[in-house]
Amino acid sequence: MNNYQGKILIDGEWLSSDSSETIATINPSDGIEFERIARGTAKDVDRAVQSAQNAIEGKWGKTTAAERGRLLQKLSKLILENEDELTEMEARDVGKPLRQARVDVKACARYFEFYGGAADKVHGETIPYQQGYTVLTLREPHGVTGHIIPWNYPLQIIGRTIGGALTMGNACVLKPGEEASQTALMIGELFRQAGFPPGVLNIITGLGEEAGEALINHQGIDHLSFTGSTEVGELVQRAAAKNAVPVTLELGGKSPQIVFADANLEKALSFLVNAAIQNCGQTCSAASRVLIEKPIYENLVKMLTEKFQQLQAGPASRDLDCGPLISPEQKVRLEKFIAEARSDGLNFAAQGTIVDDAPSGGNYVKPLLIRDVPADHSVAQHELFGPVLTVMSFGDEDEALELANGTAYGLVSGVWTKDGARQFRMAKKLKSGQVFINNYGAGGGVELPFGGVKLSGHGREKGFEALYGFSVLKTVAIQHGE
Ligand code: NAD
Repeated sequence: MNNYQGKILIDGEWLSSDSSETIATINPSDGIEFERIARGTAKDVDRAVQSAQNAIEGKWGKTTAAERGRLLQKLSKLILENEDELTEMEARDVGKPLRQARVDVKACARYFEFYGGAADKVHGETIPYQQGYTVLTLREPHGVTGHIIPWNYPLQIIGRTIGGALTMGNACVLKPGEEASQTALMIGELFRQAGFPPGVLNIITGLGEEAGEALINHQGIDHLSFTGSTEVGELVQRAAAKNAVPVTLELGGKSPQIVFADANLEKALSFLVNAAIQNCGQTCSAASRVLIEKPIYENLVKMLTEKFQQLQAGPASRDLDCGPLISPEQKVRLEKFIAEARSDGLNFAAQGTIVDDAPSGGNYVKPLLIRDVPADHSVAQHELFGPVLTVMSFGDEDEALELANGTAYGLVSGVWTKDGARQFRMAKKLKSGQVFINNYGAGGGVELPFGGVKLSGHGREKGFEALYGFSVLKTVAIQHGE
């Protein structure tokens, strides 16, 4: 599985990029280069789009829904057969502790299994109309779909976005994040082995401002799916508007978990910690704010403090609570927020540790718990993308909602309460794409539609809902007779 190093995938072949240049792949656990990826250009993107168009006009366009499903399920099996290799590479490339990387491999396989099963189960409708007519709707692929993904969850996001698009018969051009493209290339190789026709999945590695820009502006693209920062999401939306193509934006978040006094605190505790520090806090749906009802505030802060004091950061291979951050730049960015919090006198309740033998070139930070955080402070408003949990108290349901909804984002919310009526009230009033009650993240939830409101984006991926976004509805009205 290594004929793809430094290559791009076009028309089922591993090729050199038009630039012939490569970009270093750095292991965030030690800062050492361990691979190189191709620096794809606008010309490469053009070739990839052409190849996807050819696939649609050729064999892929004639493949039945059932056959598409079988191919996707075969890919799922191949991913599981290569689970150890993919796990090891995702851990090394992203800096993710091994067991978290393994969850991502299994989730990636599960997406292709789920979507493989769904491929021949998406139906149109018939619509009662005037006498002498039969009217029906067809769900058709958009055509060529462009997929730009970030570095933090390459495998999971490939599964959800490429899985959904291929299920509906689109052909894809994928641009992975330049910081972590290795497992995307491995998946590309497994695609070849699964027997998909050439051109169904094309992969162009490279820089956002080069290959990414070329992809979002390409006139041969019929749908764009972007997962990444809100800033770049705006550029993607503008480019999509210029070519009048539909776009799905999966952007950042500042998700809250709200804990009421009647909650099961023992159960909540591990969800509160894990949702904040998973992948070292570099998760769009990280629950980086915990809002606690006043009567249990001190008690729960004490429980969180004890947990945070025990957290350890170190190399991905050591499989600790946290790995490193992805890059020195992300570390500098995070440390600025932390310095601001310190100089404003915020209360640092607990800090974890970095293991003594962590390589000096790794981008390690100590997991941090900050209590009594003012709602308008920058650490409570911005996506920090690090293992920092901010905690604040609330007096009643209305205040909890005001705080929870009081950021520019709206991706996910969590609520902890045994009161059934309150569960429904909160679920209705929280401004986010997902609400979890007495759990958070629901174990990956391949089946559960996912996406944001406000600056967290729009459109839904995951679950069956994604398939409507990855297809276009055509209405056919047939008048009986000639
Ligand atoms: P990013 O926006 O910097 O990069 C994402 C992708 O966009 C990369 O492939 C990058 O090369 C590309 N890109 C950058 N500039 C571009 C341009 N001008 N034109 C076209 N493409 C361009 O984000 P990141 O730092 O890689 O990832 C972190 C962000 O992603 C966080 O904000 C996180 O919340 C978000 N994210 C969201 C989800 C979700 O599902 N909502 C999931 C994971 C990550």
